[in-house]
Amino acid sequence: TMAHSKALLVLENFIGGKFVTCSSYIDSYNPSTGDVYCRVPDSGKEEVEAAVKAAKDAFPIWSSKSPLERSRILNKLADLIEHDLEAFAQAESKDQGKTITFARTVDIPRAVYNFRFFASSILHHTTECTEMATMGCVHYTSRAPVGVAGLISPWNLPLYLLTWKIAPAIACGNTVVAKPSEMTSVTAWMMCKLLEKAGVPHGVVNVVFGTGAKAGEALVCHPDVPLISFTGSTLTAQRITEKSAPHCKRLSLELGGKNPAIIFDDADLTQCIPVTLRSSFANQGEICLCTSRIFVQRGIYNEFLKRFVAEAKKWKVGNPSDPTVDVGALISEEHLEKVRSYVKKAQAEGARVLCGEGVDSLTLSAGNQKGYFMLPTVIAEVKDESCCMQEEIFGPVTCVVAFDTEEEVIKRANSVKYGLAATVWSSNVGRVHRVAQRLQSGLVWTNCWLVRDLNLPFGGMKASGIGREGAKDSYEFFTEVKTITIKH
Ligand code: NAD
Repeated sequence: TMAHSKALLVLENFIGGKFVTCSSYIDSYNPSTGDVYCRVPDSGKEEVEAAVKAAKDAFPIWSSKSPLERSRILNKLADLIEHDLEAFAQAESKDQGKTITFARTVDIPRAVYNFRFFASSILHHTTECTEMATMGCVHYTSRAPVGVAGLISPWNLPLYLLTWKIAPAIACGNTVVAKPSEMTSVTAWMMCKLLEKAGVPHGVVNVVFGTGAKAGEALVCHPDVPLISFTGSTLTAQRITEKSAPHCKRLSLELGGKNPAIIFDDADLTQCIPVTLRSSFANQGEICLCTSRIFVQRGIYNEFLKRFVAEAKKWKVGNPSDPTVDVGALISEEHLEKVRSYVKKAQAEGARVLCGEGVDSLTLSAGNQKGYFMLPTVIAEVKDESCCMQEEIFGPVTCVVAFDTEEEVIKRANSVKYGLAATVWSSNVGRVHRVAQRLQSGLVWTNCWLVRDLNLPFGGMKASGIGREGAKDSYEFFTEVKTITIKH
């Protein structure tokens, strides 16, 4: 009905500095109520073509600006997002289902910081120079932006991960066409409204909304987009690799994980338990870095399990806009069913569900009855070869198993196809160092989790990705290097 459609938020693509309507739209749900509340452009080849053209046209001017000029613009954009932090946080929470507290303290502050960080780091890179005196030569390297960057991001940390790509791409002088997840497009659209005020010239940042299969693939296959930075699932990355192969595109792929936490019997459990709860259940367990296999040394296994489960039961699940809630809604009904199905499979295999799904009851307020909620779930006695210990679940579910020796746990932790992040808990420095060295994982946190210095490389091994992002790594990805030799 008219009255109904009027109430919906309708997004538009942002191309060449203008908001443009699309011929068809997709429904977007509020995960905490199950209602359609927003319509997202269902872009395809035509829209991507227009966006790539706008980005190509903007490239000569943007790429010839000095790093300092670009830095000033990025800082201005950071200030503008920060000024609207509360509105962005509310929108992210409503669109994604995450708690307002998480959006306020993690997602949006980090999106702001992404722009500030690259506004600064772009001013401090140096290139190499070597001298070959006997040949009368000096060699030096020179770096230039590549061109139009295609950026594709997932739904779990929408603005946070999108800006982690946009900021370095444009700081280096590229222009971009971004495609956020069709399930979480609102904050990207809100950011577009601030670009002009920040001084970002028309066409430098273009955003096309739509599905992966249509809009995403059109971007991946476009001959004038020489590089694709993608964060999402391993399956999609395989498809992107195939589709981009005929063009020999430069790819950065940040993918899934099946992250272990290894807890030795000399770990400080008063520190370890709250952090491992967060690493398992923060953002509904929908973070690529979330722990989902907890290996506990035999001597403290029972004590750990008892304390961990007791604390997990205290996590409050419900309306994400309630600031006292710890766990919001999962992204979609389909995803909720998928996460639940893993718990059922574990039970069928004889594992024990100690709390959460199927064991405890969840009470929701009247407005949230149709939302996609699930209790933090702890599973014990799962076999290493079970799908719950091998596949990425990406929800508030974690498996706890016992181990005996250091040698054994390293082998078991490494025996999955993924290699993104691991945590190691022990008060023995020699041991944490030894174990960290041998884990097949792009990131290893010892006695902490998700403490990041953006200067250093971020990314995964094995099926968790190709390439790294960070100050120097993103600079290298988003620029083309040339070696120049000068002879007297
Ligand atoms: P997804 O792969 O389904 O989608 C990611 C993005 O790719 C979306 O924008 C989607 O529309 C697009 N896409 C889908 N098919 C495409 C295609 N054929 N061509 C081009 N684009 C396409 O992932 P998701 O479900 O949105 O996100 C969850 C996944 O992301 C999890 O596996 C998670 O571990 C991973 N992730 C990884 C990191 C990291 O930094 N390593 C960070 C966050 C999330």
